Amino acid sequence: MSHEGIRFSTKEDQARQEEENRPLPKIAITPEKVRVLMTEGKGLEIDWVDGHRSAWGFAWLREACPCATCLEERKQEGRKPGQAKAKPAALLPMYTPPPKPESVIPVGRYAIQFNWLDGHTGGIYSWEYLRRVCQCRECEFERSETTGAPN
Ligand SMILES: [Zn+2]
Ligand SMILES: [Zn+2]
Repeated sequence: MSHEGIRFSTKEDQARQEEENRPLPKIAITPEKVRVLMTEGKGLEIDWVDGHRSAWGFAWLREACPCATCLEERKQEGRKPGQAKAKPAALLPMYTPPPKPESVIPVGRYAIQFNWLDGHTGGIYSWEYLRRVCQCRECEFERSETTGAPN
């Protein structure tokens, strides 16, 4: 499992990558309980084996879709996972229903896939990805500390 951990890169590369790819312990990326609050329309909750608890709203998850298309789009627009697109101010406000999944299916043992009501599918949210984007105060604080972003 750890064979691919060997790579050759410069020190600067490593420093940059360590921030994002800091390995997480297995217990931190193994869910003990996964709840999808479909009927409530709320979102996803995960209790991790290490005792941590995470929760994400559907709207957030939709904007954090990890598929290649969405990743690229966010990169180009400089958006973080979960950050909504800026709404064009000049247009008449239109009602858009909040994002909701049509179905949520487990992918192997490592991920969960959301198929959204708006027709977008194919985003596979791995446990590791989800843990890395945990929205709890503790994790948010830790991330703001390490990236130096203002709170
Ligand atoms: Zn996507
Ligand atoms: Zn957290």
